[in-house]
Amino acid sequence: MFRKLTGRFSACSGDNRPGSCSPLIVLRSMALSALLFMLVFPAVPIHAAELIVYSERNESLIKPLFDAYTQETGVDIRFITDQAGPLLERLKAEGENTPADLLITVDAGNLWLAAQVGVLSSVASEVLTTNIPAHLRDPDNRWFGLSVRARTIVYSPDRVRPGELTTYEDLASPKWKGRLCLRTSKKVYNQSLVAMMLERLGPKETEQVVRGWVRNLATTPFSNDTMLMEAIAAGQCDVGIVNTYYFGRLQREKPDIKLSLFWPNQNSSGVHVNVSGAGITRYAKHRTEAVRLLEWLSAGEAQGAFADMNLEYPANPQVQPDPAVAAWGSFTPDTINVTVAGRRQAEAVMLMDRAGYR
Ligand code: FE
Repeated sequence: MFRKLTGRFSACSGDNRPGSCSPLIVLRSMALSALLFMLVFPAVPIHAAELIVYSERNESLIKPLFDAYTQETGVDIRFITDQAGPLLERLKAEGENTPADLLITVDAGNLWLAAQVGVLSSVASEVLTTNIPAHLRDPDNRWFGLSVRARTIVYSPDRVRPGELTTYEDLASPKWKGRLCLRTSKKVYNQSLVAMMLERLGPKETEQVVRGWVRNLATTPFSNDTMLMEAIAAGQCDVGIVNTYYFGRLQREKPDIKLSLFWPNQNSSGVHVNVSGAGITRYAKHRTEAVRLLEWLSAGEAQGAFADMNLEYPANPQVQPDPAVAAWGSFTPDTINVTVAGRRQAEAVMLMDRAGYR
């Protein structure tokens, strides 16, 4: 189409004899061609866009990927990192003036909340809906899980036989009295776990389980998963519930630590999984480019690297996990949509409070 138009408007078209076009005419013809090019291809950017990302995921986990993307596409990516709460507040306060194109947060509870308060927008992308399984993304496509973390049982192989373990619910049984360690209920990870149990078991049974956990506690809940695992290794308790990547990090740091993972609920609901994911902001200034970045993150090497850098599982089932992660063995995950983690979060928090889980 471009050639056709320039041919028609060329001042020298059809005449190749030397001197048939004056320099001015040639110059004007070139200017006209350039103008026509811009009119015909107005959407083709002369300079690649710059994308702005707000991320709860640490710089060390996202910067290498963004650098690779810039190298591949020429698109610069600027980002800020913070906790989900402040990032959401910022997006709300900035409204349509926000410079942010993409929001990355951890835990489906946070992603759900971001969608709920209206700072994300729905994306119609066949690439994303093909790459990311339905239970790991928002049913309205306002966010997509990019990596999966399993919140599973960790135990002391010295004091617990794996045959003694079965389900999350069973950790409430009297045989674990004084042997259980938990992380605080203030952490969204545990709120999401209890929210999913609420969906599966209903409020009555879930509360009985949580009350049982509290009765079995060996000590006050920990502020993080790593301290919890150190307590098991030190003999303070025998079992606990942690995110797999914290186990992986500790294993890397202390290869001889006496801890093992167990995949619970394999004959029922499956292992509780959660995501770290992203969504396009409602007022993104570079929406097309931002969707392209999100699609890039959902497949191939980028998808593998997104998960591997934090020892997580790729959300895209076509991509293999890191060998260190694969070595923990395979398991059946819970496939209830992770959006439940957000939807029932408030109910979960109230239940844990009632049950005395601090
Ligand atoms: Fe974490």
